Amino acid sequence: MHQPLALRCDAAALAGNFHHLQNLAGVPAGAAIKADAYGLGAREAARHLLDAGCRDFFVSTWWEAAELDFLPPDSLAVLHGLGVNDAALPGVRPVLVSPEQIVRWKNAGPPDAPCDVMIDTGMNRLGLRAEDIDLLEGLSIHTLHSHLACADEDIPVNDRQLEAFRALRSAVPAQRYSLANSAGILLGRDYAFDLVRPGLALYGGIPRAEGRGLVRQVATPEAQIIQLRTVPAGETVGYNATFAAATDTRIAIINIGYADGYWRGFSSRGMARFQGRELAVVGRVSMDLVALKVDGAADIREGDWVELAFDLEHAAQTSGMSQYELLTGLGSRFRRYWI
Ligand SMILES: *Cc1c(COP(=O)(O)O)cnc(C)c1O
Repeated sequence: MHQPLALRCDAAALAGNFHHLQNLAGVPAGAAIKADAYGLGAREAARHLLDAGCRDFFVSTWWEAAELDFLPPDSLAVLHGLGVNDAALPGVRPVLVSPEQIVRWKNAGPPDAPCDVMIDTGMNRLGLRAEDIDLLEGLSIHTLHSHLACADEDIPVNDRQLEAFRALRSAVPAQRYSLANSAGILLGRDYAFDLVRPGLALYGGIPRAEGRGLVRQVATPEAQIIQLRTVPAGETVGYNATFAAATDTRIAIINIGYADGYWRGFSSRGMARFQGRELAVVGRVSMDLVALKVDGAADIREGDWVELAFDLEHAAQTSGMSQYELLTGLGSRFRRYWI
């Protein structure tokens, strides 16, 4: 069946972002492809990243891992570890996050099965506390991780976490050590250790100013025009009548809305493009519909496609949503395709 809504994903931009981040870090980059690769589609994104040379991947759950059966053995790790209801998949490592999980993994055996471990250095979300590292005795740790809480800000927390992680590197034997997410990579090579773990920046997000000019947009929503109409001067458009036409105004109604992750914050602020011309969003974003002012595009027709302005740094400012939410909110009604 025809889908009047598409998400165009740029494989060259994804590969370019991967290479740029890896070169900046000076060590291999493993890709966070949890949450369906931040909404782009984990299977497709992983295939393109594999082609680009990526050899480490991270998902949150075993349910996500099961979808990625084509990845090479020992290239995938599960960030939420081995929970009460989980069974490990062959060739996939858990990232053990708690004393309970370490006991569970040791009991599941064999003792030399490789695992990853998350150690908490100040975020107090997931991870073993530093005082519990004796529990790691006897494990075969592939990658020891920690996670930065504030890497998108310039505050002393980053240095404190870096120092804590350096101390752990001396205390806990592992094949590799990994600390930096996308923002952490942009903090500099001190944070890179043996492996970096970008997510957002692979998909076009810019968590710190240093990412500008380095990271390219990957995902662009495209929506089809359902109807064109002329709104007479003085009449209003959409819920709560927030836009009033000062003069007779040509409007296009497009097939996208907040149910698709085009959030209400784009109301009267978002923008679309048709053949290079900019069309302003007018009035409220509805669940499934958005109105665009098309005065400058007399040749536009029912059935034409427009693309939504979705440069993430700018779209986040416009909508009041985070770059992460903008990507992961992209709904199930898009036909996702890669160019
Ligand atoms: C999601 C996640 C990442 C990637 O973070 P970004 O900010 O998207 O680059 C890295 N490490 C861990 C542990 C994560 O959960």
